[in-house]
Amino acid sequence: MQTAFVVIWVGLFVGSLIAYQVASPAFKRAAYVPFIVVVGILFAGFVTLLDGTRNVAFVVIVVAVITVINAVTVRFCPECGTYNHRPFSRPQYCTKCGAALDGDGGTRKDDGDLRHP
Ligand SMILES: [Zn+2]
Repeated sequence: MQTAFVVIWVGLFVGSLIAYQVASPAFKRAAYVPFIVVVGILFAGFVTLLDGTRNVAFVVIVVAVITVINAVTVRFCPECGTYNHRPFSRPQYCTKCGAALDGDGGTRKDDGDLRHP
């Protein structure tokens, strides 16, 4: 079981690195939340298989909270596809190119509002 865990985890890691390099911004935006939900389910499943069901409620709650936080605080730029993450809020502008992440066409450079320190 540990071998399967390592193989699947390395596969997911390498696959996501490749996808990050080659996928379109639209694909990244569409696929991110389903991807992290699947990863969370796999992680909780592996922990339960390896550790038994005595901590399953705790594992599911922690994985669910982390998944929701990532779904809310990670956004991919519609222009350049860059991964943008802010720890406690939804990023509004791309850290690489300054494009608005909500897709309204405005940019950080245009309105002079530097929201990233
Ligand atoms: Zn960008």
